[in-house]
Amino acid sequence: MMKKQHVAGLDGIDETHDATRRSWVASANGHPEFPLQNLPMGVFRAGSRARLAVAIGDELLDLQAAHELGALGELRGETAEAIQTETLNAWMALPAALRRELRQAVWRLLCENVPEGVIGARLAGSLTLPRSSVKMALPAAVGDYTDFYAGIHHASNCGEIFRPELPLQPNYRHLPVAYHGRASTLRPSGTPVRRPSSQICQDGQPVLSATEKLDYEMELAIWIGPGNDLAHPIGIESAAEHVAGFGLLNDWSARDIQAWESLPLGPFQGKNFMTSLSPWVVTSDAMAPFRVPRMAREAGHPGTLPYLDGDSDARAGGVDIAVEVFIQTARMREAGEAPHRLSRGSATALYWTPAQMVAHHTVGGCDLRPGDLFGTGTISMASHQDCGCLLEMTEGGKKPVALPNGETRGFLQDGDEVILRGFCAREGFASIGLGECRGVVQG
Ligand code: MN
Repeated sequence: MMKKQHVAGLDGIDETHDATRRSWVASANGHPEFPLQNLPMGVFRAGSRARLAVAIGDELLDLQAAHELGALGELRGETAEAIQTETLNAWMALPAALRRELRQAVWRLLCENVPEGVIGARLAGSLTLPRSSVKMALPAAVGDYTDFYAGIHHASNCGEIFRPELPLQPNYRHLPVAYHGRASTLRPSGTPVRRPSSQICQDGQPVLSATEKLDYEMELAIWIGPGNDLAHPIGIESAAEHVAGFGLLNDWSARDIQAWESLPLGPFQGKNFMTSLSPWVVTSDAMAPFRVPRMAREAGHPGTLPYLDGDSDARAGGVDIAVEVFIQTARMREAGEAPHRLSRGSATALYWTPAQMVAHHTVGGCDLRPGDLFGTGTISMASHQDCGCLLEMTEGGKKPVALPNGETRGFLQDGDEVILRGFCAREGFASIGLGECRGVVQG
């Protein structure tokens, strides 16, 4: 009863969030990222096929195998069908209530006291695999990818570098600014990124050159659930139900290419060479304990237009995710030195909520489809130390970052590995993580 009072105001809390419950997968108990209370969805490679899975501690649960053994109980037809596909698209298309039902079935299977009675401990053991033994695929076949610009400190800092006379455009506080990105170059964590070549402007002359200003961008991935029909916008109050889950996204950026090409239409070659994604989708249900009010508007703000202004979204539309960026250079790797943390941040620095992004994206009639992907925009804090990209942290490369082994970085060099991580913590709840998103730079 105390717990109920403690979480007053939070929607969607049920027994699957109970911090006192443990799993028979021993590594899950106290796991910093994937305890019983998380249960993120992903896709792993199994021979020539791909199969759906749930991460639990250091293991993964093979969902199709669990279903075929009847270990998930009676599932609705469309849920059972979704489990037997090779991407999460069909699962994302399920109504929020059915996704929640599946989470509860997985939770019951993985709880400490269940396997003996239901399927037997030995059988249960055959449903899990060490996560280190499998290769993960992209979670979904992404039809469209949109990159927002919702990190207000990032927008201000970059504006100061590119347009000091007007760092934040007049539209910024009225709509979630975005551009349409490139879905074909999305890759799962672990895929090396090739240093791109395109036009850059050197001493006033355009040349075709490999980028000399390769950067990363620390963003959240937002995975779209059920879509909408063309010309049928999604209202702000129901928009959250169209978000299936969250991950980490590295929007690799070539700043010299970007600076020359972007006016007036925005990023193109400077962004479209590759975007990296963490493989596990932390579901909106798992995120229920970590919702926070949306960022407060400044004194004197004239007010958000009604189609972006919902009561529940204002109260709990934000996500409280701590994010971290690490680098490991080739020299560090050869010397056996651990990755060095470059920055820490929080998704509470996002000016716009996921629901506001969904409402704005569809207000003109654009249809979203299950498995579509949003990037939130780079997450930076107000201080210059805790920025989500090197462009801001080094002020365009002018103030290189010093690494513990004496190396410095204005921008990324070949052999550098960038690692993004994300965590959620709240008193009274089990902490969960988003896993990691990594990639090595290749020349
Ligand atoms: Mn970006």
